[in-house]
Amino acid sequence: MINIQYLHSHHLDGICQAWKDAAKVLVEKKTTTKKYAYTQKYADGTSQTFLYDTLKDKIYGSCELILEGLIPDDTFFDTNFEVSCGLLKEELDFVFTDIWTYVGKDWLQVKEDADRCDNNKKDTCLYFYVYNALKEPFEELYKYMQELMQDMVFTELNIRTCPYCNRQYTFTLKPNKKGEPHTSPEFDHFYPKSLYPTLAISFYNLVPSCHCCNHGKGQKRLHINPYEKGFQGDFCIVNKDGYRLNIKEVLDIKDEKDIYVGYNGTLDEREDVRILGLDQLYTMHSDYIQEIIDNVNDYNEASANGLIDSFQGIYNTPQQIYDFVWGRHLELAEQELRPLSKFTKDILEQVGVKR
Ligand SMILES: [Zn+2]
Repeated sequence: MINIQYLHSHHLDGICQAWKDAAKVLVEKKTTTKKYAYTQKYADGTSQTFLYDTLKDKIYGSCELILEGLIPDDTFFDTNFEVSCGLLKEELDFVFTDIWTYVGKDWLQVKEDADRCDNNKKDTCLYFYVYNALKEPFEELYKYMQELMQDMVFTELNIRTCPYCNRQYTFTLKPNKKGEPHTSPEFDHFYPKSLYPTLAISFYNLVPSCHCCNHGKGQKRLHINPYEKGFQGDFCIVNKDGYRLNIKEVLDIKDEKDIYVGYNGTLDEREDVRILGLDQLYTMHSDYIQEIIDNVNDYNEASANGLIDSFQGIYNTPQQIYDFVWGRHLELAEQELRPLSKFTKDILEQVGVKR
């Protein structure tokens, strides 16, 4: 996990504001060509479709219909009905008061919202029903915002590799409307939009990510948010039973089939590594690790001096030699620029190679 806030704090709020401004225009824009529909389902099995001129009207309208449709039904809502209605009104008040607060919340407010949502869901099944009802309009709003804004947000953020795994880049290739290949960014909702519908449109709930993490994570909730912090622990080579190997044991590995990757960090970090499957994925890079081990065995003071002699005037310092042999962008401030930077740095530290 790479910390986005640490690297991009100077311009995150500006991008968030641009996201908010564009959303406002989009949602309040009247359209004569397209009507926004919301279908209300009733307890007796019938349904009715309502048409709205703007996306905002649709969101507000569907919320009003949810409130109107709250008829006590002993078979489902039971005795919690009064409590449920109170909670529901409280939530919808947020939506009615200012829908834009959802878009511009900072990551701490996003976290508070998610915690509140979790607590409310514990209280009543009705509340869960309400979040389900909010899901559709908010997902639709996100879809429109995504189409209009995602390229700008992605370019401005300039986060090259996936902050979750640092294994792959954050862009992929998708066909455009003409069916031509088109580079397209991938965004993960840190708090899944299916479970936290109002956070579907929050800028600080969007994490540029790789396809693998975005889809592998699914509806699971991670403990570490890259807008807040990155992993403090490190990946390491372990034995079959998960115990970290010492320098000699690592350098004695001759066959990449004997390489296993583990993670040494806090309980929350280890849980996130498990959810994202990072230890398993990194173990699949055993050929890359074996190459590091072979290079460490070959790389000593004599070979470093040999490099300085061979490249007279180009590599003069140990730092320059380090960058040449092990690659650039391994330091914390640059790790997001290249895939596997943190992993490479962690393994090099395990075998005693320091910049
Ligand atoms: Zn990833």
